Amino acid sequence: MSINKIEIVQADITTLDVDAIVNAANETLLGGGGVDGAIHAAAGPELLSECKQIPGGCPTGEARITHGHNLRARYIIHTVGPVWQGGENNEEGLLAQCYRRSLGLVLGNNLKSVAFPAISTGAYRFPVEPAAHIAVSTTAAFLTGEDRIEKVVFCCFGEASTRAHEKALIGLGG
Ligand code: ADP
Repeated sequence: MSINKIEIVQADITTLDVDAIVNAANETLLGGGGVDGAIHAAAGPELLSECKQIPGGCPTGEARITHGHNLRARYIIHTVGPVWQGGENNEEGLLAQCYRRSLGLVLGNNLKSVAFPAISTGAYRFPVEPAAHIAVSTTAAFLTGEDRIEKVVFCCFGEASTRAHEKALIGLGG
């Protein structure tokens, strides 16, 4: 079952020992606050140098990969979630696409484990519960029939986010 590969942890994502961590970045890929700032601080300045080489940054809903530099994770997958504008601007579709594109890069780089933060639920204001449902259900659907990815971690920051992801996973029968 694909949901057996999903883990929910409450932690600082920069500390995790997985093949790749996902960064909730912005379109410039030049760093910012929240999880993006924490990842750049922990990975070191070489990360910014590598990000500057990526032409065009990263449009909303897409994903780009860099090395992990000083992190335990070998790679960082940078994705840009939608800014919540009330729900009428395809925010849900774009958020789901962030998870699919990121998982596509996991597969494309032959990685086996990945950890996601709760994309868009901080500065970008996407409501926590629907975002958690999209994260978990999109990932479970992607993993169905996909043997190459062994583990997907939802790395939650705070209890409300953890509870929302646990509820979403239980809703899928996990
Ligand atoms: P966005 O701009 O996509 O909303 P934020 O970084 O503001 O990105 O928030 C996304 C989520 O990441 C929020 O749930 C926030 O609490 C969480 N977060 C912030 N720092 C960390 C961290 N070090 N590890 C994991 N999650 C984090």
